Amino acid sequence: MNVLVLGAGYAGVNAYYALRGKATLITDSSTFKFYTAYLRNLLRVTPYISKLPKGAVIERINDLDLKGKWIIVGGRKVQADKMVIALGCRRPRLDQLLRELRSSNRPSLGVEYNYDEYIAIQALLYLRQRGLEVKYCGSPLSWLGEEVSKVVDDSLSEVGVRVGESCEFQLTAPEPHELIGRFLSPGPSLEVEPGVYVAGDLLEGPKLGELAMRMGTVAGLNASGRAKVLKPIFINILDFGKFGLHIRSDVPWGGTYVSVKKSPIRRLMKRFIEKYYLWRKGRMGILSFL
Ligand SMILES: Cc1cc2nc3c(=O)[nH]c(=O)nc-3n(C[C@H](O)[C@H](O)[C@H](O)COP(=O)(O)OP(=O)(O)OC[C@H]3O[C@@H](n4cnc5c(N)ncnc54)[C@H](O)[C@@H]3O)c2cc1C
Repeated sequence: MNVLVLGAGYAGVNAYYALRGKATLITDSSTFKFYTAYLRNLLRVTPYISKLPKGAVIERINDLDLKGKWIIVGGRKVQADKMVIALGCRRPRLDQLLRELRSSNRPSLGVEYNYDEYIAIQALLYLRQRGLEVKYCGSPLSWLGEEVSKVVDDSLSEVGVRVGESCEFQLTAPEPHELIGRFLSPGPSLEVEPGVYVAGDLLEGPKLGELAMRMGTVAGLNASGRAKVLKPIFINILDFGKFGLHIRSDVPWGGTYVSVKKSPIRRLMKRFIEKYYLWRKGRMGILSFL
């Protein structure tokens, strides 16, 4: 059986681990990039790259067909029996934005896509920890429920992040991957065509690494014949400098579960997580219980 995993980001590597290596992992990048640690570089130099899992094939996929289950790589067509597609989304202006934020004296940042607010808030919190005056244009993660937005709002004012309108910089909305052309909305098994599973940022909804990893595991298990359904949840730690906010909520998917924990330990947990995933080459492992 020829099982292909396309993309070796958060979702792809976890699908590959769930398939216990009985698949071919194809990616156009020779490394695994951990964006949580990448963003911390707004505060201080932090490693964010690790090696790929053993056996990964580094090639650019030039075309694919969901129904036909084939891809084009290196000018040849490869037919799959099953596929996990985890090619992510596109953020073409991200690196430039982070460079501009880093060199701004009074950075102010808003978002085009409300589910990206947690990224904008964390970016500003790092700049604030450098002693800069910062302003945020957006909601205090209102889409995660009232309890979350109240604590985030209070915490932002506690550390001196101003909230207002007319921000200089914008985190532009994520764009669909060009080989897919749209964001996908599969059911809980993540199957979009028979034997074709999708995971990560190429789905409609919040773009979150923690969620992408869980999706990757579910997609990989289903591709290996071990039936599993996704229970989507938003889990993230915001580092406020003095403390961390550990947020969990399934409100964006129609649920009612909300938990917000505030403590200095949660901040240290975020630092641990950044190191853990680089060491584990993106493998979620025990952190799936966090
Ligand atoms: C600045 C920033 C900070 C973030 N911080 C956090 C955070 O603190 N916590 C959190 O949970 N999430 C965070 N995220 C979100 C998280 O990074 C994404 O949700 C996650 O990367 C999605 O994983 P993915 O596997 O779907 O896509 P990606 O990680 O983007 O992986 C896509 C893979 O597909 C490959 N690929 C793409 N096109 C091709 C092609 N044509 N041929 C071959 N291979 C291809 C890429 O090389 C890559 O290996 C952050 C995102 C950003 C941008």
